Amino acid sequence: MDRHLSLLTPSGHLTLGNLLGALRPMAAGQDGSTCFYGIADLHAMTTAHDPARLRALTQETATLLLAAGLDSATLFVQSRVPAHAQLAYLLECTATTGELGRMIQFKEKARDQPSTRASLYTYPALMAADILLYRPQRVPVGADQRQHVELARDLAIRFNGTYGPVFTVPEISLPAAGARVMRLDEPTRKMGKSGDGPGVLRLLDPPDVVRRKVARAVTDSDTGEDAVRRDPAKPGVTNLLEILAACGGSADGITTYGALKKAVTDAVVAQLEPLQKRYADLASDPAYVASVYDVGAARCREVTAPVLAAAQAAMGL
Ligand code: AMP
Repeated sequence: MDRHLSLLTPSGHLTLGNLLGALRPMAAGQDGSTCFYGIADLHAMTTAHDPARLRALTQETATLLLAAGLDSATLFVQSRVPAHAQLAYLLECTATTGELGRMIQFKEKARDQPSTRASLYTYPALMAADILLYRPQRVPVGADQRQHVELARDLAIRFNGTYGPVFTVPEISLPAAGARVMRLDEPTRKMGKSGDGPGVLRLLDPPDVVRRKVARAVTDSDTGEDAVRRDPAKPGVTNLLEILAACGGSADGITTYGALKKAVTDAVVAQLEPLQKRYADLASDPAYVASVYDVGAARCREVTAPVLAAAQAAMGL
C-alpha cells in the first residue's frame, strides 16, 4: 500500500483555505498504516520566529488536525522524530550550493539579504528528508513546491548512484483538485495562513467574526439581475460562490450580493461550528492530544529508523 505524506507548517493560524484545500482531502480515505500527517515545526524556524508563538501554533495546529477528524492517520510533530533532521544533514552533504541557490523560493525571498537564516537556504534538504524517510511511491504536489520535490528526487537518485540503493525515488503527481480559496478582501490572492486581517477566515474565528469578515468581502459594482455568477471578471463573487459550494450551501435563487454573503456566512459557520466544538473539547484535554502525537511520533521513529540507518551506513557512518 502506498504511503501518503502531508506536512503543515505551523507558521500561522489555519484558515478555511487549509480546511477545504488540505484537511478535508487528507481526512478522506485516511489510514494509520499508510497516512502520515505531520506538523513541520522545524520548517517554521527558517525566518525570525518567536519560540512561544511557535509552541502555541504547534499545539493549536495539532489540536485542529484532530478536531478536523484526522484521528485515523499517524499524526506527528516533525521535531519529535529526530530522523528528519538527521537525514537532512546527510542530504545536505549530497546537495550542492549551486542547486540550493537555484531554488526559486530562496531566490525570491532571500538570496541577497545577509541576515537570511542559513536554514532557509538548506530547507529543501530537510524537505527531501521529510519525504524520502517514508519511501512514498508518489508525492502529490502543487506548483509552489514542485521544484523542491524535483530536488528531492535528484538527491535520491544521486545518493543511490553514489552510495548505494537506499531511497525510493518518488513520482510527482498532481494533487487531487481541491477548492482554492482566495482572500475575501483581495480575491486574486490565496487565502494563506501567513496573511491576516479581514480577508482571511480562520478556523477558530467565532461566528460573529466570520459574519463581519464576509460582510466586508469584495464583490463588484455590477448589480444586474445575473450579477451573482461565476465569472473570471468577477473574482470576488466567484470566490464567494466557490466557498458556498465547498461548504455545502446552494446559490439557487440568490440574486443580490447581500443574500450571497448571508448564505456564505451561514454555510461557513455551519462548517466551523462542529469543528470548533471538537476543538474546545480537545483543548480542555491536552494530555489526550499529547498522547495521540506521542503514539504517532513513536510509529514514525519506527518506520523511519531503517531508512536513516541504511543512509548512514551507506555514507560510512
Ligand atoms: P500552506 O498553508 O500554504 O502552508 O498550505 C498548507 C496546505 O493547505 C497545502 O496543501 C495547501 O494547498 C493548502 N492551502 C493553503 N491555503 C489554501 C487556500 N487558500 N485554498 C486551498 N488550499 C489551501
